[in-house]
Amino acid sequence: MALLIKNGDIVTVGAREKADIYAEDETITRIGKNLEAPAGTEIVDASGKLIFPGFIDPHVHIYLPFMATFAKDTHETGSIAALIGGTTTYIEMCCPNRNDDALEGYKLWKSKAEGKSACDYAFHMSVTKFERETPGQLREIVADGTTSFKIFLSYKNFFGVTDEEMYQTLTLARQLGVIVTAHCENAELVAQLQAKLLSEGKTGPEWHEPSRPESVEAEGTGRFATFLETTKATGYVVHLSCEPALRAALAAKERGVNLFIESVIPHFLLDKSCAERPGVEGMKHVMSPPLRAEHNLGVLWRALNRGLIDTVGTDHCPFDTEQKLLGKDAFTAIPNGIPGIEDRVNLLYTHGVKRGRLDLERFVDAASTRPAKLFGLYPRKGTIAIGSDADLVIYDPDYRGVISAKTHHVNNDYSGFEGMTIEGRPSVVTVRGKIQVKDGKFIGERGRGRMLKREAAYF
Ligand SMILES: [Zn+2]
Repeated sequence: MALLIKNGDIVTVGAREKADIYAEDETITRIGKNLEAPAGTEIVDASGKLIFPGFIDPHVHIYLPFMATFAKDTHETGSIAALIGGTTTYIEMCCPNRNDDALEGYKLWKSKAEGKSACDYAFHMSVTKFERETPGQLREIVADGTTSFKIFLSYKNFFGVTDEEMYQTLTLARQLGVIVTAHCENAELVAQLQAKLLSEGKTGPEWHEPSRPESVEAEGTGRFATFLETTKATGYVVHLSCEPALRAALAAKERGVNLFIESVIPHFLLDKSCAERPGVEGMKHVMSPPLRAEHNLGVLWRALNRGLIDTVGTDHCPFDTEQKLLGKDAFTAIPNGIPGIEDRVNLLYTHGVKRGRLDLERFVDAASTRPAKLFGLYPRKGTIAIGSDADLVIYDPDYRGVISAKTHHVNNDYSGFEGMTIEGRPSVVTVRGKIQVKDGKFIGERGRGRMLKREAAYF
């Protein structure tokens, strides 16, 4: 069915315009004043609302076997939560570990999403070892439209790669024109510090941050950058959390390394005191890299507004209270992760745009346009233009609400952002021309989401 959205205030990177948008067959076909539509067209009045391109979360975990358990969401629950929060596309980390076969893992991750997701999706393919068959397998995966890799410098002997494997992965990625995303923490230092702290009887969640201090992340970021410089590959640091790591990344950019930076919503809004709360309350705020000392939050906001930090993702990774308690005797056994898929856009709008820390256009860029460009989805996604998919967020800036696990849609019994106010939320969300969400309720078609096949980018 055709869709006409009237009288909205359209915000894209580089343009702002009051106009109507007409979509048919999943695609935007006309943008202009006083558009007419054939009988039977669904009409939405967007007076007083902002219209954004559908938001893209470049870093989520939906299906994830990790730390002796599984993340709580399925693609059914995760995609509905995403859509209610204005995210119309997410890129999931496909994460087989070192003991798994990469190609079998890729097929398994795809099977978990197919026919289940209500929003569109893609994958970053994790490379967690580099063996004789790895290049052939990765070529097959790239040919299937998954044109970004993920490596972990941390999580030794599970997800983590050695320096040799990092070199091999980056060399192949350079040949294939594939961008490599990286979790940058020094695995050896983390392992040593964890053992030292535990041996001193320091077992609570408040010791998680000291076991992976800022210097450990800065080292990982700098080393990744040096390997990019040497191999001429293009890289993307995921969830950069602190000033020393930012300095390492910016220094590399300044000397011409092809490096992009993502930070995730918890690191803009929460500091390490959350993980220092006693017992399970602290455990709920354990993620890696950890929540940091408070002064880092302002550093990240300023770098984001200047475009030095390219994108904002979530690292959405829900483990419930019972799962977090797996780490009651040792912080090293707390499943790492904080959910955020539903709240990212509203929190970024409220605490960024409304609080004067983030320009409106940069908000759209960081949460939609730049992820689309970096990961081969643009201009199909990430903008509002003729020929683009009709993924639209009609945003109500007058809405007022409070985030709570009691009302959220993520399959988890707590929210890391419990009690935070939001000033704005999506009023209508469409996926390829179909209304999926209205006023905080999913009213659309389950399983509508498609895997997005992407071209290699050749930066
Ligand atoms: Zn992650």
